[in-house]
Amino acid sequence: MALSPSASPLPAAAGTQRCGVCGRDSRQTIFRPMAPEQAPDLDLRPGEALRGTMEHWLQQCPHCGYAAPDITNAHPGAVAAVGAAPFRALIQDESHPPLARRFLGWAHVLEETGALAAAAEATLQAAWVADDAGRADLARTWRLEAVALWRCGPPLDHEQAVRVVDALRRAGAWDDAAAAAEQIAQSKPPEAVAEVVGLEQRLIAARDGGRHTIASALPPPSRRPHVAHRAAGAGPGFWAWLKGLFGRR
Ligand SMILES: [Zn+2]
Repeated sequence: MALSPSASPLPAAAGTQRCGVCGRDSRQTIFRPMAPEQAPDLDLRPGEALRGTMEHWLQQCPHCGYAAPDITNAHPGAVAAVGAAPFRALIQDESHPPLARRFLGWAHVLEETGALAAAAEATLQAAWVADDAGRADLARTWRLEAVALWRCGPPLDHEQAVRVVDALRRAGAWDDAAAAAEQIAQSKPPEAVAEVVGLEQRLIAARDGGRHTIASALPPPSRRPHVAHRAAGAGPGFWAWLKGLFGRR
């Protein structure tokens, strides 16, 4: 395995991978996430330095267009999804940033194979790409699509439910965001979740649709050293969740 020609300081290398959909070989970046040094956003978008590495999160086969964290793996349903018109349309839509199309293609394959929560995650990642590209219109559309997917999928734990609130707030869906936040607040969530929901409720009341970090919702790390890396304090933990994003635990 050779080092990436970009001489990037990131833990990424290049290697030949065989596509799980079409069976053809291509050179791909093999990415291993590093622990972020900064606190994540309220929607758990990782802090820097990991934040700036989204171009390495998904591989894409140059032959068939299949995009995934590891294109050597493909659910049997992925072959049909990648060959069908909706997938082709998504990855060829030149009105969208190329990197966003990769995440939307992966989201589509996940949705077609019934992995709705993971499809929501990938759709939210497309919204992050739109944020970085200054495309507020696309970011809003894709956040609302992510929320719709989350709501069609399995029941959400507190951590995911807070992310739905944040996606609605960032999309300017104030009434829906306020109702969803109130529902969590009424459910007697763990203290850290309650603190994040409290911040969301203040931001919603102020019609603030901007980016805020978990660190601004929680007490200083000196009081609770691990909480910024455990997201809202519920679920499997931020780091396990983050590694799950890349499909390699
Ligand atoms: Zn392929």
